[in-house]
Amino acid sequence: MSNFFSAFSFNGQSMGDSPEGERYTVADIPVKCAHCKHDHFVEGRAQLNTAGMTFLNLDWANRSAATLTCTACGRIEWFLADPEERA
Ligand SMILES: [Zn+2]
Repeated sequence: MSNFFSAFSFNGQSMGDSPEGERYTVADIPVKCAHCKHDHFVEGRAQLNTAGMTFLNLDWANRSAATLTCTACGRIEWFLADPEERA
């Protein structure tokens, strides 16, 4: 999977090297990948102001979500709360 991230760029990081990512907590709980249990992620933002999301009554969600992409397996975790980076 070493080439998985080479096709994408996250948060302006240059393509090529795989990002190591950071560790995050949400609601004071350390975030772990639900798939591979890895705990390093790259944070991103996704807009929710689509017709579909409005239909789902997510207008209250400030129209953006945080995404944490597992740097080991590529699973994307979605949060409406802002993840906090862990030291
Ligand atoms: Zn993972």
